[in-house]
Amino acid sequence: MLFGRRKGMARRRWRLSAKLLIASSVATVIGFSAICANVMLDMRRGEEELARQMLENLAAGIDADIGRNIEVYDLSLRAVASNLVMPEIKDVSKEIRHLILFDRAASAKHFGAIQVFDASGQLWIDASSLDPRPENRADEEYFTVHRSNPDEGLFVSRPMLHRGAYSIVLSRSISDAEGRFLGVAAGSIRFSYFHELFDRLNLSPDDTITVLRRDRTIIMRKPFNLDVIGKNLATVRTWSANNLKPTGSYAGQGPVDATPRLYVRRDSSGPLYVVVGKPLEAIFRVWQREVIRIGAIMTALILFVLGTTFFLGREISRRAQAEDKLEELATTDALTGLKNRRKFDLEIDTEWRRAVRSRTPVALLMIDADHFKSYNDNYGHQAGDQVLVGIAICISDSVRRAGDCGARFGGEEFAVLLPGFSVSEALAVAENIRHKVAHWSEEEVTTVSIGVASMMPSAGLDWPDLIAAADKALYAAKANGRNQTVVANVPQLAMVA
Ligand code: GH3
Ligand code: MG
Ligand code: MG
Repeated sequence: MLFGRRKGMARRRWRLSAKLLIASSVATVIGFSAICANVMLDMRRGEEELARQMLENLAAGIDADIGRNIEVYDLSLRAVASNLVMPEIKDVSKEIRHLILFDRAASAKHFGAIQVFDASGQLWIDASSLDPRPENRADEEYFTVHRSNPDEGLFVSRPMLHRGAYSIVLSRSISDAEGRFLGVAAGSIRFSYFHELFDRLNLSPDDTITVLRRDRTIIMRKPFNLDVIGKNLATVRTWSANNLKPTGSYAGQGPVDATPRLYVRRDSSGPLYVVVGKPLEAIFRVWQREVIRIGAIMTALILFVLGTTFFLGREISRRAQAEDKLEELATTDALTGLKNRRKFDLEIDTEWRRAVRSRTPVALLMIDADHFKSYNDNYGHQAGDQVLVGIAICISDSVRRAGDCGARFGGEEFAVLLPGFSVSEALAVAENIRHKVAHWSEEEVTTVSIGVASMMPSAGLDWPDLIAAADKALYAAKANGRNQTVVANVPQLAMVA
């Protein structure tokens, strides 16, 4: 009995573990995938941060170099502008005036010689010559800007051909103590300076360096392209103040080509600023390779885990089905298809306990075929078997509630368990069975005698007492002439129905 009970529980545990297995596998797969994706995203952020730092340092270095050179050159221009208005300067010779006005710094490599133009744009003094050829720059932007606004300060021109070389012209206005415009001091920084500066850096071909004026005019760019130089980006949306702040970064397409890059801008207080860019493809190349590698491993692992889970789950449910089948076989009477004695014992035990808890009665019918020995003798054992099957059909036809249990008790004897039934209810079922058997068999050859008992579980009573009472009633029915139902008057004498 206990063995059977344990077996039932084991079966339920099996089913539970099939679901648990699938649930835990899926949870594990989702968990690991989430962790993996998180790690990958962290790695990507790390790569981007590293590239940003590298680009920031690069931009800072370039910006500092350009800023310093412009500052040095501007100091020379300031010196010219302030020294030229000294009254004493008119009294000295051209040679001395040159020495006073122009220091050696402005004659450094890549710097053009400083020129001074008077208020009409006529060349007045040239650092490279004591007797310069006459020229007039009144129409040049660097002249008109100062003439119209003497407070302009240092002006950096658009890139232009200046004295035979591509350069940017740096200029300052000259005004006297009263603020009257006297002319312009102008010099230049040649593109060779930028080329040399950029060539010193170890860059990939797709990396870019762009030097811009504050009005977003491109002063210089690497890779060098004359079509781009001098272009104004005022109307171009990329790199606008919204997406590329003075010390910010921007990932996407730039204003010149379609390659998506990470652009970093570095700004000092000078008139120019620097934007350096690196293709996103180059930044994330190693990361992408790693994603593909780890992704492939993860996919293989996930497929393996899911495959194993699927296989195990199928095996578990197959075994559960086989166990169900086995249990069905182990609890069924082979001839009649009713429950067997073993199952009946389990059921009556279970129902009795339930009845104890719920304080409800349990009814039992004991059914025995009358004169079955002689039937066997007259019609043969096989015909006898058919009669037993017929009685079983009559019983299962009459017992339909869940919890009712019709069983073959042994030989030509049957038992029907009716939980919750009172004596009268059980008597009705018994009579129904008895009539069915009688009408089913031709000329009432086969009849049954039935003993009925119904008990309310109480102290000192157990289910064997219920069987004994029903059995006693069955004997009484036999003794009274068979083909009848007798009710056990529990715990007193049995009564004929
Ligand atoms: P009573 O009315 O007093 O019950 O008489 P009875 O002949 O039915 O009772 P008895 O106990 O003397 O005989 C029972 C017979 O039932 C004996 C046996 O041959 C028969 N029997 C028991 N099991 C089977 C079975 O599985 N198949 C067949 N054909 N006969 C069976
Ligand atoms: Mg009998
Ligand atoms: Mg018998």
